[in-house]
Amino acid sequence: ERKRLSRLRDVPGVTLDGFTIGLNVNLELPRDLDGAHTVGAEGVGLLRTEFLYMNRDAAPDEDEQYEFLRAVIEGMDGRPVTVRTIDVGGDKLAPALREQIGEPLEESPNPALGVRGVRLSLAHPRLFDTQLAAILRAAAHGPIRILLPMISQISEVHAAREAVERVYKRLKRRKVPLPEKLPPLGVMIEVPGAALSADGLAAVSDFFAIGTNDLTMYTLAIDRGDERVAALYEPLHPAVLRLIQFTVEAGLRYRIPVSICGEIAGDPRFTPLLLGLGVRELSMSAPKLPSVKERVRALSLTEASRRARTIMDQADAKRIGELLDDFIANLG
Ligand code: PEP
Ligand code: MG
Repeated sequence: ERKRLSRLRDVPGVTLDGFTIGLNVNLELPRDLDGAHTVGAEGVGLLRTEFLYMNRDAAPDEDEQYEFLRAVIEGMDGRPVTVRTIDVGGDKLAPALREQIGEPLEESPNPALGVRGVRLSLAHPRLFDTQLAAILRAAAHGPIRILLPMISQISEVHAAREAVERVYKRLKRRKVPLPEKLPPLGVMIEVPGAALSADGLAAVSDFFAIGTNDLTMYTLAIDRGDERVAALYEPLHPAVLRLIQFTVEAGLRYRIPVSICGEIAGDPRFTPLLLGLGVRELSMSAPKLPSVKERVRALSLTEASRRARTIMDQADAKRIGELLDDFIANLG
């Protein structure tokens, strides 16, 4: 097993017919960096910065955030790091932010549909500007991309871009070391409405990251944390797959990169289908990467695309699962 892992670390994620698939890791804390190197990750596809705010009493100031981000960016040795701006609310609580936010988010009538992700950032410019300043300063140490969670409207992308530009100019006036250019600004596609308006969002975004955990939850109205409905939580539901497909196609039309960073990205069972739908970049927790890479290297993209077309004609998640397993069973 050790041998298999070290062999896989050093080979590229290329399909049998020669297509390169970007295989990145999801990261929460700098201590996850070791795992990223052990599996030979090409970059960080999702840095969940909210973990820096969780499980503590006082919120981190700009310098602490900057040091945290710098540690991750330097730790990745020039490989790109996708920094997602804070995504609290819903199932992720950060009491440390209560003072800045004012009202407790968990008391919202429906936290999953309330002030979450980018909505929180845009409602609290001081909080957002502090994080953006830390991100832009850290960007002087290596390539980064900025990712916005829970986007549902184009206006949110515009507002966030204005904030990034404003903070960049302010730091520049103060002669703070910065990257020469603004980092790419991308959006999470994790709300069905965002997926359905992927064309419009693609026109104003530099990249997409599809968050299939939330996308599945919001599409099927199944709380991802509620065990009583867990059996209905099904990313292979044709509605979820169509939203993924729609988003990937919009990304291709607008020539922006599209990655998937939900749990299914780290499940080799889904790999042939996601690649067949046109996805060329996946991001997952580090321990999942070797098996996904192995699967990528065992399949032909041409054949996966053909299979995906058959699968997308199906109406039933169970049948879709059977067709997928049948395809996998016949891989070399
Ligand atoms: C997702 O929703 O799929 C995602 C990657 O974001 P998170 O799991 O952090 O909500
Ligand atoms: Mg999410």
